[in-house]
Amino acid sequence: MNQPFTDLQTRDLQYVWHPCSQMKDYETFPPIVITKGQGVWLYDEQGQRYLDAVSSWWVNLFGHANPRISQVLSEQAFILEHTIFANFTHEPAIRLAEKLVALTPNGLQKVFFADNGSSAIEVALKMSFQYHMQTGKSAKKRFLALTDAYHGETIGALSVGGVGLYNDIYQPLLLDTVRAKGPDCFRCPFQEEPASCHAPCSQFVEEQLKAHHQDLTAVIIEPLIQAAAGMKMYPPVYLKRLRALCTQYDVHLIADEIAVGFGRTGTLFACEQADITPDFMCLSKGLTGGYLPLSVVVTTNEIYSAFYDDYGTMRAFLHSHSYSGNTLACRVALEVLTIFEEEPVMEMIQRKGQWMRALAMTAFNEMPYVGEYRQIGLVGAIELVADRATKEPFASEARIGYQIYQRALAKGLLLRPLGNVLYFMPPYIISEEDMRMMIATAKEAIEQFFHERGEYIG
Ligand SMILES: *Cc1c(COP(=O)(O)O)cnc(C)c1O
Repeated sequence: MNQPFTDLQTRDLQYVWHPCSQMKDYETFPPIVITKGQGVWLYDEQGQRYLDAVSSWWVNLFGHANPRISQVLSEQAFILEHTIFANFTHEPAIRLAEKLVALTPNGLQKVFFADNGSSAIEVALKMSFQYHMQTGKSAKKRFLALTDAYHGETIGALSVGGVGLYNDIYQPLLLDTVRAKGPDCFRCPFQEEPASCHAPCSQFVEEQLKAHHQDLTAVIIEPLIQAAAGMKMYPPVYLKRLRALCTQYDVHLIADEIAVGFGRTGTLFACEQADITPDFMCLSKGLTGGYLPLSVVVTTNEIYSAFYDDYGTMRAFLHSHSYSGNTLACRVALEVLTIFEEEPVMEMIQRKGQWMRALAMTAFNEMPYVGEYRQIGLVGAIELVADRATKEPFASEARIGYQIYQRALAKGLLLRPLGNVLYFMPPYIISEEDMRMMIATAKEAIEQFFHERGEYIG
């Protein structure tokens, strides 16, 4: 860390403003210049390699520079890279939409293309609102979202987000959103066990629906895992209950599967585990296996029909992005879905999930400062606490996660924690040997950090 910056690092810091970063931190911790990726590994200028345990912000499924995906991308680039998507179309988008309708829960039948996760959220919010305006329910103008929700960074998406770190300062700009306390299984106020839980905490969202349903157009939720909040996991029964409540109160359900879609939770979509169909499903991240920005909103014929009329009635959904339905991205997404069809991907996720659980339980369960290890599918999370008995959290100013992250990087592991939560979300192709390295190195980094603080007694 005390080495002089390389030429590329110096030029980066002169010209580039990085996402989700305090740029002053980079003075002592310069950006790592990645020159090559292969499988789960990223290589820097010095040839040091890092195991990408976070799938490069949750997007990568089948490894970096995957030969099969790179091949079709390159072929497509010589045929057609992109075309205007109003009045024009292309086979990759058509085939992709067809497959998505076949794979998503029953009843989702129309695919609207956008180009990143936040825009998909904006699309779903706008569609839900406009649907109600055009079906004689113009009082329905507000959204209901959960505490600790994360749906992206654009103004509409931030409005339904509930992570203060990202949205506090923008409060004056945000939509007036109804907020309900979400599930909090690690610190469950009802002392339920996940296996036998009947989601008594759904009463919070029920109370808000009861009070506000006449004003509410949609409830938006991250199914099974509130990811950015620190991989907060909750059982399918909550989703099932929420679906029933939304139907009862005539409010749309928007399932934001941007982080959890495409196998992450052990089923192709998280909603499957609750056997529900939302009114809108937003997908992005894994959709292109981590290759290109693309997102979709999949919705029902009923919603689509409320927009379908003669032009003069002005009921159309006049939303677009320059790169809507980008051909290269659609071609890559199609290949990703073909991999799911042709390879036993879901079995692989099950098997690797079992290895990960066994390794992680042994490594972390008895460690001081580990409040809990939790896992769904191929997402595992360690919640660090100042006191195991009371579950008292570490103060966020202590930046515990950030310091462990730096130590893990020096050992060749890319973790990037969320506050006090370290998590593993590796590409599905990770080998057993690399998974062992990932768990062992994370443990070493945690131990080293607490040793250095002079506190470690384990
Ligand atoms: C990442 C994410 C988004 C936003 O997607 P971007 O492509 O980063 O705009 C929205 N919702 C969830 C659940 C996410 O994890």
